[in-house]
Amino acid sequence: MPWDRRAPERGGRPSAWALLPEDLAEGECPGRPAHVFSRLQRARTWLADDRLFLARDSRAWLEAHTDLSLPVILERHPSEDGSTKLVLGLTDGHRIEAVHMPRRVDDPRVTFCLSSQVGCALGCTFCATGAMGIVRNLTAGEIVGQVLTLMRALGPTLGEDLFLVFMGMGEPLHNLDHVHRAIRVLCHPHGMLLSPWRITVSTAGLVSGIEKLARMDPRPLLALSLNATTDAARSATMPVNRAWNLARLRQALDAWELKRHERFIFEYVLLAGVNDTLEDADRLVAWLGPLSRGHNLNLIPMNEHEHSAFREPAEERTQAFAKRLHEHGCFVTVRRSRGRDVQGACGQLVRRAVAGG
Ligand code: SF4
Repeated sequence: MPWDRRAPERGGRPSAWALLPEDLAEGECPGRPAHVFSRLQRARTWLADDRLFLARDSRAWLEAHTDLSLPVILERHPSEDGSTKLVLGLTDGHRIEAVHMPRRVDDPRVTFCLSSQVGCALGCTFCATGAMGIVRNLTAGEIVGQVLTLMRALGPTLGEDLFLVFMGMGEPLHNLDHVHRAIRVLCHPHGMLLSPWRITVSTAGLVSGIEKLARMDPRPLLALSLNATTDAARSATMPVNRAWNLARLRQALDAWELKRHERFIFEYVLLAGVNDTLEDADRLVAWLGPLSRGHNLNLIPMNEHEHSAFREPAEERTQAFAKRLHEHGCFVTVRRSRGRDVQGACGQLVRRAVAGG
């Protein structure tokens, strides 16, 4: 199978969840490839009694040639705000975390915050995952598997109610081949039929990945975790800035040809006494230039955790920062991350233990 050759899933059989209809056809899976793919991906039919509704010969082929295992839920941590942090176990014993975030009670739409790696190599100093270092990339099958496992456990049953953000453990652009393969599978018209506009990939500023993603199809939305307004300050908290500084990052955004519906999302984690002055707000607007209008800028007061000495700024300071950006015409939202009370918020996801380790 082509996918098997391009990215062997750690030497084993390829995950069934990452196969496209053309892979099933090339592997000579019995049955119509589009039909088999659809059965694999459409959680609604699959959820009904926990079995795949497939002809016996198709199912036997999948069992013989592919890996049908999914991440398993090891822990559930419901938050007071309605979100749930889930600790998921992978087949090799590693653990990752994902967050299920429903909207209002009368709104069926749900956002999943997904992981793309076990750990992360980028080492941002305010981030719990960064403190772990990198363990390994997730495979496309494990990424799609996170979606299916969360849908199966907590809903929604329809892909049309689903929004995905790659803001969990890992830098998704460090694992772009697998992340993009998962996006292709999830957006396939015979599968979940997710729109790429409902998928957001968040990067710490890996310029080589941004430039590659800009040319990919389907192309998700891009969120950029900015968090500082001078190279010295950014390099101190986000080592990736030493390789690709703020000017180079801005250049990569300028080269990204935005489609009519597309907007960048900028994230700025406010760290008390580090990046929360009004001068920082002014420099942020200057760096954004024309991008300060028409794009979303999320201010996220630091989610304090045991792996970092950084603190959340006082409320007045956060409000003053936001007000200054408003005065410059920015569209600013102060985001209180969801799941803070269960350590499921931005920068708080961390594997607490590896099975057997
Ligand atoms: S903030 Fe993102 S890129 Fe930085 S260490 Fe954490 S997971 Fe990695």
